[in-house]
Amino acid sequence: MSLPHHFLLPQFNDRTDEYGGSLENRARLIRELLEETHEEVGDTCAVAFRFAVDEMQGIDGMQAHEEGRAVVEMLAELPDLWDVNVSDWANDSATTRFQPNDGYQTPYIEFVKQVTTKPVVAVGRLTSPDMMLSLVKRGVVDFIGAARPSIADPFLPQKIQQGRIDEIRECIGCNICVSSDNLGIPIRCTQNPTIGEEWRRGWHPENIAAKGKEEQALVIGAGPAGLECTMQLAKRGYQVTLAEAGKELGGRVPREAGLLGLGAWKRVTDHRIYDLQQRANVQIFKESNLTADDVIELGIPNVFIATGAGWRRDGVGRSTRQPIEIHSDMTILTPDDIMAGQSLKGTVLIYDDDQIYIGGVLAEHLAHAGHKVIFATPASMVSPWTENTLEQPRIQKNLIERSVDIHTGATLKTVDKSGCDLACIYTQQPRHIACDSVIMVTERTRHTDLFDALKVSKTSFQTLELIGDAASPGLIADAVYAGHMAARNFEEDPEKVAQQMFRREIVSLQNQ
Ligand code: SF4
Repeated sequence: MSLPHHFLLPQFNDRTDEYGGSLENRARLIRELLEETHEEVGDTCAVAFRFAVDEMQGIDGMQAHEEGRAVVEMLAELPDLWDVNVSDWANDSATTRFQPNDGYQTPYIEFVKQVTTKPVVAVGRLTSPDMMLSLVKRGVVDFIGAARPSIADPFLPQKIQQGRIDEIRECIGCNICVSSDNLGIPIRCTQNPTIGEEWRRGWHPENIAAKGKEEQALVIGAGPAGLECTMQLAKRGYQVTLAEAGKELGGRVPREAGLLGLGAWKRVTDHRIYDLQQRANVQIFKESNLTADDVIELGIPNVFIATGAGWRRDGVGRSTRQPIEIHSDMTILTPDDIMAGQSLKGTVLIYDDDQIYIGGVLAEHLAHAGHKVIFATPASMVSPWTENTLEQPRIQKNLIERSVDIHTGATLKTVDKSGCDLACIYTQQPRHIACDSVIMVTERTRHTDLFDALKVSKTSFQTLELIGDAASPGLIADAVYAGHMAARNFEEDPEKVAQQMFRREIVSLQNQ
């Protein structure tokens, strides 16, 4: 609730009565709300007060060591519990990309316990049990607040209590959960595919039904979908064979985690690989690029194909549905090439018609590495989708500060040997931008060759299912969800599964 907080701030509160003017007057509404809430609830429950002690705007807002502290001193003993944080939401729920440290709010809130005898709780993407313990032991807080870490692993407290630290599914600080809120859709989490599906689909975050009559499954592709599918099938008790064409497990995850600011994303695969290493009923084969004949020869009747997707280099994306004209002398690269370590020379133009996150990440990554970067996009801002994860202003600010030359509202028309011809999306006014190479961040193509070959083979499989990016390129969270769903639904009654999909808390249309 922002209204009481706005009463505290002179930039919102211009009242001249006893609720405006001095800090004491501006805090009067909060004082009265706390006192009257106490009166109303009596001793039936405690009254907690969440207060953002710092707005991270310097002298333009509330500061922890100025009026933020004064408010806590003034109301020190009124709440039964102080729940303190920073604002706004983008600062409170910072992503690891821009705030890599656990407990990043501590410098702002650590004074609170010195000025009240009431218990204090704080947040700050606290995922490390050692950090949690240290905050309590050092007298910074009495309780640990964990919203995102509990979304990623609702059994976090129990795992800590039981010493099962290695089993914690650690939040990666990506804010996909936040994006669901901003988009008004059911919550999704990159690490925890069961979140929001506990009631509708009956998915427990830790438990999964034991296997049915089938014994064996083969999962091809160890990206986020393949790893999650393997882990859940193994938990169900099947003998699972996981075949990965590459040298490393994780697919796109370790590649993206190698880019600037995304290191924490590696936790997605670390958690799953660790889990699989503990299981006797899983066999993992790396550098195993299976053909359709290989798969048929293996004779495993249930096959899940998670062969991923790759970035296209022909310019087809959201705005341009036909391949664009590209001169053969120009170097055309994709995010896959950069993540594979391909070196760059001279000025690079990143054309971002994907408009989600990877274009902005690459621009910052390459500028940080010392490259001269030009960023062009048909969108009106850099990485517009990341408004949903509360990151967009920081992304654009960083690119400006790193001297990236940004061209918004521009589509790519042709590429010649000296650079790119862009056109204004409103007027079609052309402009030529000189560059030495172009990175196309436009659209991904599904890798379905193996699936297609098996589909038309004479062998009939009990299960042959395409999952993850190979079925529908999306976020890492989508791939994890797809892998989880495939494992959950395996050997399930299809009618029951279909009913789960349409289960709603509030039924607005009834069958007549
Ligand atoms: S979506 Fe990302 S930030 Fe949100 S809880 Fe899951 S891992 Fe953490």
